Amino acid sequence: MSAEPLVVVLIGPGGVGKGTLAKRLVELDSRLWLSRSWTTREQRPSERGDEYYFVDRATFDDAVEAGTFLEWAEFHGHLYGTPVPSPKDDVDVILEIEVQGAEQVLHHHHDAVVFLILPPSMERLEERLRVRGDDDDHVADRLQSAPDELEKGQELASYVILNDDVERASGEILSILEELRRQRRELPTKD
Ligand code: 5GP
Repeated sequence: MSAEPLVVVLIGPGGVGKGTLAKRLVELDSRLWLSRSWTTREQRPSERGDEYYFVDRATFDDAVEAGTFLEWAEFHGHLYGTPVPSPKDDVDVILEIEVQGAEQVLHHHHDAVVFLILPPSMERLEERLRVRGDDDDHVADRLQSAPDELEKGQELASYVILNDDVERASGEILSILEELRRQRRELPTKD
């Protein structure tokens, strides 16, 4: 059996529900380990303190210098980064990131499995951005960058998943992961 963990990446426009989906996936599948990112953006009132490591720019820059991150990117004026993962054995890694970061992950892990998450409609996307407490400027910024994220996402993604319902979408992702794990178990081991 291959010792390397699967690296699973969720991408898609802000507000599409990647975070909720990622949390549901780790609840449903104990073999998935969700990476916790660093960010320089402020914590939202609607957010729990453990959604990210909230840090200032100097701390983030020092971490970049120290080689802390597998990938990092600037998105709408804030920095976001994934620490080099350190999961337990036999656990696959799941990352919930934007497209520049996904490109860097694919550079390091050619066999990373990238899922592009689609909103049911642009109206639903806007609704979700508002519900989570983003102000008008943020909503407008994120809606404006959504088409680019979707276009770039299509280029990077191995699978496209419609997030019309969290249970259905997470079930679809888990059955794909199950099949990929089955295929990996059948690969000859390297020595
Ligand atoms: P938000 O501010 O809405 O939490 O996140 C903004 C965007 O940054 C989202 O698309 C989210 O997936 C992405 N993001 C979160 N963590 C990371 C990370 O560690 N690296 C990168 N590249 N993007 C991230």
